[in-house]
Formats: sequence, C-alpha cells, structure tokens
Amino acid sequence: MKFMQYNQNQTLLLPPSLVECLPEDHLCFVIDDVVNSFNLSMIERGYVEEGHPAYHPKMMIKILFYGYTQDVRSSRKLENKTVEDIAFRYLSANAHLDHGTINLFRKTHLSELPFIFAQIIAAIKGLGLADFSDLSLDGTKIKAQASTDNLFTKKEITRLKSRIETFLAESDEVDLKEDKQFGKKRGYNQMPEHLADPKVRREKIRKIQKKLADLNNAGREIDRKQKEAKKDDKENKTQKGRRKQEKIRNLSSNTTDPEASLMKMKDGLSRMAYNVGLTTAKQFIAAYDVSDNPSDTRSLPEMVKKTEENTGQKVKKIKADAAYFTKNNINFLTDNQTEAFIPDTYMRADQRKEDKAKKENKPEKYDRKNFVYDKENDQFICPEGKPLKRAKYDHNKGKDVRTYRGAQCQDCSCRSLCTKGKIRSFTFDFELEAMRQIMRTRLNTTEGRRKYGERLYEIEPVMADLKRNQGLIEFLCRGKEMALVETGLASSAHNLKKLFFGLKRIGMKRKEVDWSSLMKTQTA
Ligand code: SF4
Repeated sequence: MKFMQYNQNQTLLLPPSLVECLPEDHLCFVIDDVVNSFNLSMIERGYVEEGHPAYHPKMMIKILFYGYTQDVRSSRKLENKTVEDIAFRYLSANAHLDHGTINLFRKTHLSELPFIFAQIIAAIKGLGLADFSDLSLDGTKIKAQASTDNLFTKKEITRLKSRIETFLAESDEVDLKEDKQFGKKRGYNQMPEHLADPKVRREKIRKIQKKLADLNNAGREIDRKQKEAKKDDKENKTQKGRRKQEKIRNLSSNTTDPEASLMKMKDGLSRMAYNVGLTTAKQFIAAYDVSDNPSDTRSLPEMVKKTEENTGQKVKKIKADAAYFTKNNINFLTDNQTEAFIPDTYMRADQRKEDKAKKENKPEKYDRKNFVYDKENDQFICPEGKPLKRAKYDHNKGKDVRTYRGAQCQDCSCRSLCTKGKIRSFTFDFELEAMRQIMRTRLNTTEGRRKYGERLYEIEPVMADLKRNQGLIEFLCRGKEMALVETGLASSAHNLKKLFFGLKRIGMKRKEVDWSSLMKTQTA
C-alpha cells in the first residue's frame, strides 16, 4: 500500500479530551497551573451575585495571558481562537467567548494586575530562576492608539472650539427664528437635503458635540502638561535640550488619546506614543511602568521602588544606559545603597578620543582633563600655566555649577590649538564631576565592564520579545491607564513563557511544583 488511510469523516466512539490533543509539556498547562494558584480575591470582589453569572476571572486571565504569549491581543482574534485553537479551547473549558466580554473584562477588572504580576514574580523567585537584587533598566517607546493628524496646539484647539461653538449657537438662533416665522407646520422641509432626515441630523450633531468634548479634553491635558513642564524647567535650568523637548511635547495634545505624547521613535519619525520602562533580571521582567514623558531619565527612582515592591527584595545592583546618568538618579541610588553601573553621556566618546590620540601618538594636550584645579584661588591652570578665573557661580538649590574663563587667552600663541573661540571657557559641576570619575573608574574595571555588558543580554532580548514575538508595537486601547494594563498583560505573559522554559532548564516538571506555597508570600 502506497499511502496511509485518509478519512476525514471517521467517527470516534468516544470524543477525545482536549488535554489529550496537546503535548504534555505545552505552555498552556503551565499558565493553567500558575493562574489556578493565584489569589484573585481583589478581582472577585468586583462581581455581584445578582444577574446572569459571569465567566470566572481565572478563565479570562488564562485566555488573556496565553493570547499575549502568542501575539493574539485583539479581543476579536481572541474570540476566534476560543473556537479554532485547541489550547485556547482547553483554557476556556470549551466556552466560546464573545469579543465584547473579553474587552469589558480587560477594561474593568484588571486594575489589580500589578498584584497578580507580583504573584508570578514570587513563583519565579521561589524556583530560584532569577535574583531580583541585580537588575537592568531601560525604556522603549510604544505607539499609542492615536494618529498625529489629531494633534492640536492650544491655539488650534481654541480656534476650533470657538468655530464649533459659534456654529452651534448660530444653529440655535436659526431654529428659533424659523420657529417664530413658520410655526409648527414647517421646519423639516426647510432643512438642506442632507440634513432633512432627523436621524442623520442627530448623528451629525452628536459627532460635533463629541469633537467639542474631545477638544476640551485635549485642552485640559495641555494645561496639565504645561504645568508639569514649568516645574521641570525650574529643576533643569541648565539642560537646554531637555527644555526644548519638553516645550514641544507640552504645547500640543491629541484629541483621540489626550494622554499620549508626541515622541521620536527608533525609525526617526515622531508618533503619538507612551514610554514603557522595564527592569529585568535574567530576562524576567521585575517591574514595568508607562509614562507620557519621552525621556527615560526621571523614571529611575520609580522603577527601583516598583521593583522592590514587586519582588520584596532590595535592589543591590543596577545597570542602565547613559540616559539615566543624572545627579538626582545617582544620589537616589547612593541613598538606596544600590551599586550603579551607568556610564555618563561622554564616557564612550572620551574613551574613543583617548584611544585615537594614543594610536596616533598625538596626546590631547588641551583637553579639559589636563587643566588643573587650584582650590585655594578657585581657578583652573591651563597646560600653558595660565589661569582660568571663575566667571559665574550657580549655587541655586544646592547646586555647585561654576563657569571659568581664560584670563590671558588673547595673548596666547597656542590659542588656535586650545579653543575655537577668542577665550577658552568651560562650565564645571563639581558634584557631577566627582560622580562621573567614580563611575568611570568602576566601569573601567574588568568586573565593571562585565556587569555593564550584562545589559545587552538581560534587557534587550526582553524588549525584542515583547515587540517582535508578542506584537507589542502598538497599544490597542486608549489612555495611559489602559496602556499600563496592556503592558502588565504582556509582561506577565513574557514571564510565564520564561518560567515555562526555566522549568525545563532546571529539570522540573510543572506537576512537581507547589505553586500555591510559592505564591503565598505575595498573597499573605
Ligand atoms: S588659549 Fe587660554 S587656556 Fe588655552 S592654552 Fe592659551 S592661555 Fe591657556
């Protein structure tokens, strides 16, 4: 016989169980075990006894978690999967969910998701799969569910609002006038043809009123952002670039999602987006957050705090890129007794310059590091032995930022080698400089280089997994709160996937794990 028997209409005496249709070590079983052990009392409290019984939150969470691991995030796609996909059908116990039900659950019952996320972390910690005291931190921009076409400045919003308000007021006036003129008999037949149908007319007015409400929301959001920007400006007077960025960001708002901000994405284009921050250990996500600020810089204290809350562990070491090197962050980490591995913005460039000078045997004689500080006279001495006197002193709010200017540069024969201007000058922040030196020394040791290098395989693959494999390149829901829920779902799904592979790595079977006792530290 050349071929095996092929009969699609073969009937079975007993229908097979869905469990038998899946391999024993399928991901859905781990998700099933973990979610079954969750304490979901805070979500269950949100349901009432009256009316038709709802689907169990455990089932809804399983469907969402498994969906997010498979790049199936839209409620309509999830609905289809509960009909077509065996793993989804097993998790839903063969219930075919409606997309509206899935969407409603995601929108109304997941405000306590961080608590669920912390229970997954407890399981990972209990199994010894990661040490959450040694972390990597980074941020990535995820597109919001809004187009830049609906981005308006405060001026445009005021202009559009006044046009709509005038239009509505004029319509009322015309209605009143015509009522008086024609009485009750005539009216509709006086309408233009495209507005003659009352249904069409009502819909048009509803749309105009919605537009007005959106514009009002966007206006309010601009006010809020401008207030924040003013506060930031006061704190960061010396950072011109950041101020400019803040100004651009805060002058406009989107009518579709007023909480999203205009951000420059990796492809160089500006889009409406949110900034997602993550901390990771051994490719497990320890904490996540969503911000409308395109800059990563100020998120560090909050991320460390969230990580410690989620893991119940002190953060002892943290690795991050140069965007996080600020005085506030370094001071925070020192107070928190966390060892930081964060290069400053110029560290790599300075290193390259030094290497090049060494290679070409041309020492950078007039580099700033060759200017010696004379503490007694509060001045610098240049390589030619001439002084640079203090010109400005900014000591606002505990700052110690001083500007020094060459006192004898006009007559110097080496001026063209030392400066492009007429006088050599530089600004010196003593506190920042001290931090920079300590950090550079730490990062230039073998251990420092190794530690900082860990970032590349600890956090970058996690970002790639969320975006490429789980499809988190655009949020499906609007608003910052929902962006946070979606990030929480994607992060939980990622951790469950890693947990699944982690079990294989340590040679444990899911049935051997006492999930409830692993999680009890979080649920106690
Ligand atoms: S230009 Fe001024 S700072 Fe530079 S070497 Fe000459 S005197 Fe010194």
